[in-house]
Amino acid sequence: MRLWNLSWFLFFDSLLVISGLQTPESFDIDGGIDQDIFDINEGLGLDLFEGDIRLDGVQDRNSIIGENYRWPHTIPYVLEDSLEMNAKGVILNAFERYRLKTCIDFKPWTGEANYISVFKGSGCWSSVGNRHVGRQELSIGANCDRIATIQHEFLHALGFWHEQSRSDRDDYVRIIWERIQSGKEHNFNTYDDKVSDSLNVPYDYTSVMHYSKTAFRNGTEPTIVTRISDFEDVIGQRMDFSDYDLLKLNRLYNCSSSLSFMDSCDFELENVCGMIQGSGDNTDWQRISRAPGGPESDHSNMGQCQGSGFFMHFDSSSVNMGATAVLESRMLYPKRGFQCLQFYLYNSGSGSDQLNIYIREYSADNVNGSLNLVEELKDIPTGNWQLYHVTLKVTNKFRVVFEGHRGSGASLGGLSIDDINLSETRCPHHIWHIRNFTQLIGSPEGILYSPAFYSSKGYAFQIHLNLSHLTDAGIYFHLISGANDDQLQWPCPWQQATMTLLDQNPDIRQRMSNQRSVTTDPFMTTDNGSYFWDRPSKVGTVAFFPNGTEFRRGRGYGTSTFITHERLKSRNFIKGNDVFILLTVEDISHLNSTQDPSVPTPGIKDLCSEITCQNDGICAVQDDKAVCRCPVGEDWWYMGERCEKRGSTRDTIVIAVSSTVTVFALMLIITLVSVYCTRKKYRQRTSSNAVNKTLENEYAF
Ligand SMILES: [Zn+2]
Repeated sequence: MRLWNLSWFLFFDSLLVISGLQTPESFDIDGGIDQDIFDINEGLGLDLFEGDIRLDGVQDRNSIIGENYRWPHTIPYVLEDSLEMNAKGVILNAFERYRLKTCIDFKPWTGEANYISVFKGSGCWSSVGNRHVGRQELSIGANCDRIATIQHEFLHALGFWHEQSRSDRDDYVRIIWERIQSGKEHNFNTYDDKVSDSLNVPYDYTSVMHYSKTAFRNGTEPTIVTRISDFEDVIGQRMDFSDYDLLKLNRLYNCSSSLSFMDSCDFELENVCGMIQGSGDNTDWQRISRAPGGPESDHSNMGQCQGSGFFMHFDSSSVNMGATAVLESRMLYPKRGFQCLQFYLYNSGSGSDQLNIYIREYSADNVNGSLNLVEELKDIPTGNWQLYHVTLKVTNKFRVVFEGHRGSGASLGGLSIDDINLSETRCPHHIWHIRNFTQLIGSPEGILYSPAFYSSKGYAFQIHLNLSHLTDAGIYFHLISGANDDQLQWPCPWQQATMTLLDQNPDIRQRMSNQRSVTTDPFMTTDNGSYFWDRPSKVGTVAFFPNGTEFRRGRGYGTSTFITHERLKSRNFIKGNDVFILLTVEDISHLNSTQDPSVPTPGIKDLCSEITCQNDGICAVQDDKAVCRCPVGEDWWYMGERCEKRGSTRDTIVIAVSSTVTVFALMLIITLVSVYCTRKKYRQRTSSNAVNKTLENEYAF
């Protein structure tokens, strides 16, 4: 019933959205306008503090540095049902960026006193810091479902204000007051340095918390002019955390390590990141900056820095067929049990030389480690740096082992590796490597279609990158006719496509990759009444692969303002004139079912409107009855039918849960058990008047 209602809501919602169609070939999710957070909120007529901050009555601006206003390192959250499906997936991806680059983690709420309720309100906004209000709202409204927008709003929630409101900002930017809409000038206030702490970090033009140059303007001219003009088009980036954003966050929260980062190595230091040469092989890997047969330079610096720029090289020209060279990483200690190994590989040897990736895993039974082959990389293209990802699933301490293997045929060079990164994250499913890139920017030739790829569910798809416009690059996701179409569900339900333009910085922690996600809504229709995501052989147009094979291509769904050409040419998006677009298409239907059964859907809302839970208790419907779910802390809890009674103990309640699905099941059990136990306990207490036994043992898992 609830799903049905949601479906109709989405159905009508999509009818509204689709009326803005621009070209028959593709659909722009944001109407072809690059709307920043402030534009979205302004368009909605919101009058929030500095555009996207919700203040409460008692807030002063120095509060963020007070310990009281910080969150614990693991923040409890609820993804409310009101959120768009795409937003839910993007929020989870934003959490992964926090896990990789900071010590902040997130967990589904299981009754902690304070948590962040992420919901679809009007616009994108948050409060600043932990307000200790129980359920603290953070809105991800329409068009706010961009990863850096979500990172930005969560940085507010973690205690950060906007960068250009620092006390020293006038040293770095000029505010052109006459260009600001009248009545909006207060959005450009600064804070006294006695009350706001910039944590001894320099002013950061690249901060994801900085306004863009067009914020609150009354015409077309910029409201913020940077004193170093090179930064005029840098401010307002919404790609990822900047290095200083991370430094500040890590200082405020005393971070020393992150949850998912493991290792990064560009071989610039002679200790080669603690890697060791294998024994029992035929030759060693060499740390060099140029190989006779290629490459001419390393990948990290592309030969731009004198006296640096190293990589590891297995010279296959000097050994016989079958010879090997082994390089092992230092010992690594996994926390999450899944890893992504990423590196660049250059082949200047024989086309049949190969690189084998092993894991040497250590356990109590096997102190010397057991060697398991994970992947054999064969047919490595020659003559340029290629990007590879290898998925690992290791739970014990381990080493990564690279084994160069000499194949048949003539070799004038060998295999080279550089810029290795290992993290406990999911690997992208596909890589689209685009060569000779620069000449395509702004050129009529810059209309590119990726090769055909298959999603994990079996849907065939293609990415369209449009570089032909003068200022911005567009990106679109298309379903295309594929081999499994007869077995698949149509219209295609809830597949989220995540398209990432890779920032090829050698260190994964410093990358500011540009990412957009779109999700297939099976109820979305086009002007002519057909389903947008129906089978491409039915609704698509005829297209041809370069080899002449005919296929059908559904309409594209994406944005014409994926990234400006200016930004595209910045950082390390283009390296050696090559670009990599990482693609993941995954089924997110499971996010349709809610994490928290208390969120209002029509049937539940009615039942819950009849009762009021006290002390931040939340109403939930169980067995068609409205019940209060009471907040629980480490050594206290609320109980009673309306959470009106407080209890406490020194014993600790431990509720350990690890996934959203288990949370849902466990929450049901916990609530049922707690309601039963609370009532039982209550009866015991009132009858015996003896309070020796505590509730905790009955709660404990
Ligand atoms: Zn903001």
